[in-house]
Amino acid sequence: MNEEKKMSLTVKVLLGMFLGIIVGLIINLTGLLSNSFVDTYIVNGLFHVVGKMFVNALKMLVVPLVFFSLICGVCGIGDVRMLGRVGGKSFALYMMTTAIAIATAIIIAVALGIGKGMNVETAASFTGKESPPLTQVLIDIIPKNPIHSMANGDMLPLIFFSILLGISMLLVGRKAKPFVEGAEIANEIMMKMVTIVMSVAPYAVFALIAKAIATLGIDLLISLTGYVGVLVGALMIHLFVTLMIILKVFSGLSPAIFLKKIRNVQVFAFSTASSNATIPVTMRTVTERFGVNNSVASFTVPFGATINMDGTAIMQGVATVFIANVYNVELGISGYLTVILMSVLASVGTAGVPGVGLIMLSMVFTQVGLPVEGIGLVLGVDRLMDMIRTAVNVSGDATVSSIVAKSEGKMDVSIFNDPAAGTLDSDDTIGKLDIEVEKEMAEVIESTHKRDR
Ligand code: ASP
Repeated sequence: MNEEKKMSLTVKVLLGMFLGIIVGLIINLTGLLSNSFVDTYIVNGLFHVVGKMFVNALKMLVVPLVFFSLICGVCGIGDVRMLGRVGGKSFALYMMTTAIAIATAIIIAVALGIGKGMNVETAASFTGKESPPLTQVLIDIIPKNPIHSMANGDMLPLIFFSILLGISMLLVGRKAKPFVEGAEIANEIMMKMVTIVMSVAPYAVFALIAKAIATLGIDLLISLTGYVGVLVGALMIHLFVTLMIILKVFSGLSPAIFLKKIRNVQVFAFSTASSNATIPVTMRTVTERFGVNNSVASFTVPFGATINMDGTAIMQGVATVFIANVYNVELGISGYLTVILMSVLASVGTAGVPGVGLIMLSMVFTQVGLPVEGIGLVLGVDRLMDMIRTAVNVSGDATVSSIVAKSEGKMDVSIFNDPAAGTLDSDDTIGKLDIEVEKEMAEVIESTHKRDR
């Protein structure tokens, strides 16, 4: 397969994104949304249905993928102590990057004095929701019923159960071998399913983004340019400077290659605004494009999607300074330190789903005595900001996964450095069912039926 062809799906996904932005802008700016045909059949019809179907397909993959890959990860790790080290290192790095992210955001926002002298009247109403307290987060790590956690897609209890199951299989030893092999096969099958779902991404990404942009309040975006500008600036600094310095210093890997290969994951995160729904894509990219061994990625990726939210923390830092300035509240050093602590802790207990950052923000506001209804000020632009910050969140997950894997000797650097490794188009088995294997499968099924009869 030639190089040009190999790149084509990635290029198509990016094209889908840009076309989505353009079509969305056209619908938005020309007021086409007020046309009931465009509104009902195109934006809230076709775009909505295609986009939602795709997000559902991604979510469908998450639980079985995390379950089987973690079992394989634990069984393949060879040394159970390494599991503890991977857990400790990734937790420390996730917390550290989130704390740096929010501190940077606060410093930039304070230095620029955003929101000073703004009129409070523009606020839309917002009533806060509760984030789970830390004690409950800790208790909920242990599932009362693993099937219930799986059905709900609760990541931390699912991770806990899968790891414990893997360890138990190791302890049972030889007798558990068929089970381990079964999990390995199931993992491979799930990975193939990820590739199949990703192959329709260009169209779905287009639909998701076109709808988001078409329904976006552009006028709000303009009236909040100060907030949006500082927030996007801080997000970009974190992504391109902070995370890349951390990657280089802790792993020696090339930031340029990292940024090139992470693009697909970022587009998925951007269009779905959900780190959780992006897990299958992050996992595939980190293992097959970066060369991170599954024993590390199977843990660090879902763990990161749940506890690591650098982009979300940045939003909270900028929004806090912005709203404090609008309402003329002096938070002071201790107020800002509380904000940093609360945001880092809140990110542990909340899953990476759309809009969760606002819930965390209301908790932070209550803690430091800022008016929760002030969040109404930034509500109108939050969907777009959510999309951008989720792309930063998943980049953080991939950065930490790479650092941890490299430090544990669980990374194939030659795969990382190979531009063609693991591209979607390099998987040429999609769409080509093996006729011989198909026949064999049919024979096996037929003979099983005969035996049962
Ligand atoms: N949507 C973000 C995520 O899934 C969380 C948030 O910032 O609301 O990572």
